[in-house]
Amino acid sequence: MTTRTGTEYVSGLRADGREVWLGGERVQDVTEHPAFVGSVQGVSGFFDWQHLHAGDCIFADPVSKQRTGISHLIPRSANDLLRRHTGLEQLARYSMGMLGRTPDYVNLTFAGFAGQPSVWSANGNAQGAENLVAFQRHVAEKDLALTHTIIHPTVDGRLPPYDGVNGEAALRKVSDTSEGIVVRGARILATLGPFADELAVYPGQPIPKDRDDVALVFSLPLSSPGLKIICRDHYGLDVDPFDKPFSSRFDEQDAFVVFDDVEVPRDRIFLDGDPATYNAVMARGWVGNIMQQTSIRAMVKLEFAYELCCRMADAIGQSRRPDVMQMLGEIWSYAELTRSAVRAAEADAHEFADGTWFCSEAPFRALRPTLPAWMPRVNEIIKRIGSHNLLATPSRAGLDHPDLRPSLDRYLPGAGDVDPEARSRLFRTAWDFAGSALGGRMELYERYYLASAARAYALAHMGAQNDREWTQVPAFWSHLDAAP
Ligand SMILES: Cc1cc2nc3c(=O)[nH]c(=O)nc-3n(C[C@H](O)[C@H](O)[C@H](O)COP(=O)(O)OP(=O)(O)OC[C@H]3O[C@@H](n4cnc5c(N)ncnc54)[C@H](O)[C@@H]3O)c2cc1C
Repeated sequence: MTTRTGTEYVSGLRADGREVWLGGERVQDVTEHPAFVGSVQGVSGFFDWQHLHAGDCIFADPVSKQRTGISHLIPRSANDLLRRHTGLEQLARYSMGMLGRTPDYVNLTFAGFAGQPSVWSANGNAQGAENLVAFQRHVAEKDLALTHTIIHPTVDGRLPPYDGVNGEAALRKVSDTSEGIVVRGARILATLGPFADELAVYPGQPIPKDRDDVALVFSLPLSSPGLKIICRDHYGLDVDPFDKPFSSRFDEQDAFVVFDDVEVPRDRIFLDGDPATYNAVMARGWVGNIMQQTSIRAMVKLEFAYELCCRMADAIGQSRRPDVMQMLGEIWSYAELTRSAVRAAEADAHEFADGTWFCSEAPFRALRPTLPAWMPRVNEIIKRIGSHNLLATPSRAGLDHPDLRPSLDRYLPGAGDVDPEARSRLFRTAWDFAGSALGGRMELYERYYLASAARAYALAHMGAQNDREWTQVPAFWSHLDAAP
């Protein structure tokens, strides 16, 4: 197998017995369900996109000698990271950053894990590390789509995370079998859950050092018996992409996942019952690795938003208004700061372990809590520049209707030579970006998908303290005191 096409991806998904719930309905086949038509087409298009841009998105794997998706590359040098950047930027352009959980996200995570087996084999977990390396090769060679669930649900915030009802909800091991282990509990969330091939479970937040039962890292096919994928309401719409450019294709569908006594085969277990390693693995380069993908996606999205807003302002003749220019400059600044952070992180890339290279973490640590504020602000700017124009948007069918079109031509053109069609398409794109049901969900995603900004700022501070000693304040006083 080499990199898959969209058609191959869809046939791998077809009626595999997975237990997907949408509302009160158990979906028999996600590829056939009317609600999911556009989304399946959207993910399928992503697989085709990598072939369309093969020069950027596919590389010749030195081990398997096969044409492999760039997100499976285990970076062994700064140049590998730059090569990967080109591919990731191209992949992000498929949805202009509106798909947060394209398969390259979790692929990068596993390439990073497999590139550092010594981190996993510490504390006698040699078999887990071996399984992990073999699994990453399997994912790369089959070009599978993975989702992940890394957060335990908190049922009652008054209790510690693993006590009482919280403990009952947490995903934990309940028994060993001759074939592997049985796990029970739940996890939030699995974005792409119904449309992925595999569900990976790995650490999101640290666990208490005496809780071997929750110290689990593994992966499973989504069709594993006992796995329930409970979807949120679907926001995708089976309509002309002109009307809903994002909702018609890019609802990546979040789901709550219940593990109802699910058996994990032994060769899919990467860590079983070692809280110390569980708590350590994510601190060993995950941020410097994964945030190359997430930050490039954010950069592509911010640059798209900037251009969208410039075009909106032009279309209504408002681009010279001082407050509009200020807002346009604000979005451009966010985009450029993101691009600069990526560049800085890549420039200071270094080896982490076992010959594997990741970007420097500090620029990403700064970006991680900042983007959750910038992204909602961009949506606010879109609404402020767009105003009522975001809703004066005749549909494709309306524009094509011979009785209506003359009125639209007369009353709804834009400034200059912008015709009603171009104007409507622009403002519809902006509304679907920032204001539709999917746009609202995307804003929530940006706020939380890498943990809340509050947690991320605290991590940024802890990282800064570990990076170096902060001695400038007493140094300044000494130099004042020493002055004659
Ligand atoms: C659209 C969407 C898709 C997602 N997809 C996935 C997925 O595919 N896989 C996955 O594993 N997870 C996914 N998640 C879940 C995500 O990982 C969690 O929502 C995220 O980690 C935040 O965790 P939390 O909700 O427990 O928030 P917390 O970090 O607990 O934050 C909740 C609130 O408390 C505040 N807060 C927290 N700590 C502090 C503090 N110390 N001081 C002050 N305020 C504080 C925060 O600001 C926030 O408002 C997704 C979430 C969303 C919204």
